[in-house]
Amino acid sequence: MSAQQLDTAVERLNIINANIARASQRLESGKPAKLIAVSKTFGAEDIIPVLKAGHRLFGENRVQEAQAKWPALKEQFPDIQLHLIGPLQSNKAKDAVALFDVIQTIDRAKIATALADEMKKQNRDIACFVQVNIGAEEQKAGIEIVETIEFVNWCRNDVGLNIRGLMCIPPAELPAGAFFAQMNILARQAKVEELSMGMSADYETAVLMGADYVRVGSALFGTR
Ligand SMILES: *Cc1c(COP(=O)(O)O)cnc(C)c1O
Repeated sequence: MSAQQLDTAVERLNIINANIARASQRLESGKPAKLIAVSKTFGAEDIIPVLKAGHRLFGENRVQEAQAKWPALKEQFPDIQLHLIGPLQSNKAKDAVALFDVIQTIDRAKIATALADEMKKQNRDIACFVQVNIGAEEQKAGIEIVETIEFVNWCRNDVGLNIRGLMCIPPAELPAGAFFAQMNILARQAKVEELSMGMSADYETAVLMGADYVRVGSALFGTR
């Protein structure tokens, strides 16, 4: 049974968690990948059942949208971990640092320095990921593949960011496996620990290819 055929988000959550656990068990490391429930466009009424089922890890891709719903939810469920997975403008760095626990979409110098400045001001040390444009797509966010290692090193050594991993959104129209494999190579070369890759259509593949975080939206909350 595929997760989409089930009625409620909590039923789909259980299936997706089981799929992730099964895929993780096939890995040599056996290390379970973590599910980021991507709640963009969905409101508190859709999110609360998932929280009540015990899930705490969520992703949003717009700062303003996240500000409208998460502060109240964080009050109710203080151990929520909220990841920013969408593009960030430097004029939103202040709000992003105040609200998010992890920022996954650092892809240029201006954002890196704006976030580092804000973290200092707010005395917050937020884990970060560098987003890689792994499909070399014209219109897509992310640092170019050939610039990734130098950029990670610069973010760490010159800007002082805690770069924990790499994140990608591969081209939608191609099988993702080859891109996930390339992310593994890049992560090793850049000496980062974690990979955020895989979405509704390909999260099991991503787990099998070493994802530490998969980001699942529509397969969990329904079509947007
Ligand atoms: C929306 C989004 C997702 C989730 O996409 P689905 O296909 O709905 O699972 C994952 N990652 C990013 C960056 C997104 O913006």
